[in-house]
Amino acid sequence: MVCSMGGFQLMEPVMTNLSVVSRRNVFGTLACGCVAAAGLGSRPARAASPLAKTSLSAEEALAKLKAGNAAFVAGGACIPAGGPVPISTLSAGQAPFAVVLGCSDSRTPPEHVFTTGLGELFIIRVAGNTADTTAIGSIEYAVAVLGAPLVMVMGHSQCGAVEAAGEVISVGTQFPGFIGDMVQPIVPAVLRARRDGHMLLDDAVRANVEDVAAHIARASELVAEAISANKLRVVGGVYNLANGKVDFLA
Ligand SMILES: [Zn+2]
Repeated sequence: MVCSMGGFQLMEPVMTNLSVVSRRNVFGTLACGCVAAAGLGSRPARAASPLAKTSLSAEEALAKLKAGNAAFVAGGACIPAGGPVPISTLSAGQAPFAVVLGCSDSRTPPEHVFTTGLGELFIIRVAGNTADTTAIGSIEYAVAVLGAPLVMVMGHSQCGAVEAAGEVISVGTQFPGFIGDMVQPIVPAVLRARRDGHMLLDDAVRANVEDVAAHIARASELVAEAISANKLRVVGGVYNLANGKVDFLA
């Protein structure tokens, strides 16, 4: 099975030099397809992929996710869209057509949920699908350097992280280690989803997805500029553990 973490393994070598890409010339990368390496003379940084960026628009990328999820629900197969791709061809670079910020929950792997193969999705996963600066930086890299036209924030039903945030509010639960810090960003969504003092979990999951999507656009100047230039859409979705369907909020 080649569906799981292969993309990250392939990505790591090119990410190591990302630090040499200045904020300003990241957008230059969109136009010229190469990155000037500040402080490294004329040696090009390897952060940029030599592959042509996806030709899909945000709308086409979203349609591809919807079709992939429909195929997943119908057959549940993990098959690279368009047929098997020899792994070796991906060593040249990557050109993902979408970024997915999803929950770490083991039942929600985006490659499976959207029937996609290696090199197609740039994936960030953290419990509760929240967006800290590391996640936002990863999104910026995928958008500005790799040319992804779509960001999907994907929550899911029965999310334990959202439930935990609910417990913090309802009974003041204190979690060990850094778990409390992990759920803290979800608390505002939980508060919005309360009715008569009780949290409605499905509403809280959806509210959290909406909050995170809005936060990404608000916190990242780079993302906001790409949206204004019609080069990017940030959308939300909720995966249903019971039937495999993604409820697209766009
Ligand atoms: Zn979850």
